[in-house]
Amino acid sequence: MYKSLLRLSFSRLKALANGIRSHPGLSRENTPLVWKDFFWSIFVTLACDYDCDYCVQKFGFSNGRGDIAKFQSASPDKLLELNRLEKVLEGQIPRAIITGGEPLLYKGPVHFLEGIRIFKQVCIVSNLSRDVEPVIELGLRRRDIKISFIGSYHSEFADFKTFVDKAKKLKDNGMLDYCDFVDLDYARSIRLLDSFERSGIRAYAYPFVGSKDGKVFPRRMRKSCDGKTIRTADCLMAAVLVAPDGRVFNCHAKLYKGRGQICSVDDFSEKFKFGYTRCEDYGLCHPCQGGLSRVKNIR
Ligand code: SF4
Ligand code: SF4
Repeated sequence: MYKSLLRLSFSRLKALANGIRSHPGLSRENTPLVWKDFFWSIFVTLACDYDCDYCVQKFGFSNGRGDIAKFQSASPDKLLELNRLEKVLEGQIPRAIITGGEPLLYKGPVHFLEGIRIFKQVCIVSNLSRDVEPVIELGLRRRDIKISFIGSYHSEFADFKTFVDKAKKLKDNGMLDYCDFVDLDYARSIRLLDSFERSGIRAYAYPFVGSKDGKVFPRRMRKSCDGKTIRTADCLMAAVLVAPDGRVFNCHAKLYKGRGQICSVDDFSEKFKFGYTRCEDYGLCHPCQGGLSRVKNIR
């Protein structure tokens, strides 16, 4: 009897689960915009004071990082136009990543961080080459927004002790999420992780993303990033990427190529649409898109 009850419960659960899965209201395409699901990334500048061999931007530009001169950064006041989205976001608590290049090279990062209201959590991904004190002061002053850092360590250019000292300062002020570095050599990565641990800093080694010896990494992106077989596809944007000049893109490839913008910070609330969009550039995807985009109907 217990067995048949269990069987009954199991089949009911299965039916229920199937029902849930097939319910049109729960399909991702029909779900109303859930802003907090999006990966928001604000590229305040693409300039950087380092020139790492493995920089993923090199994959995106035609002339490596030499293309960066083409990208002019908008003023902080222009980027603060994002605050007009306050009504669209309807009280949700989206988290934004402030990135680059090196975001602390942006003129007026403090002015921008001082004025931004719509993001309740802002995480700055920085190589920590610049003075972090002004941002710490701001973070301590502003109680309505959580400002934190991810410290990216680049051993080609950064001295480990100097980097860790800044990371500790951030940590002491409750403003360090963690540190990371690109995992290029297993034995070296283990040593680096040990060094971070001894310094009391949480750190992660991230796999290389980009192209090396003519091969794209991660491997699963090879078809979509081969740069040769350009095809049409429908792509679901999982990212809102704001370029340095205020244009909004749904993928890194389009941002770095500067084409196919969805809208800009000025007309975001009128033009931005959730759902699959037609893309004519499948094959030119950027490896950073791994895990951020869903592609179907490739033809
Ligand atoms: S610090 Fe980051 S953005 Fe700058 S060159 Fe290195 S990988 Fe690229
Ligand atoms: S298919 Fe590739 S290039 Fe096109 S939007 Fe998606 S990730 Fe970007």
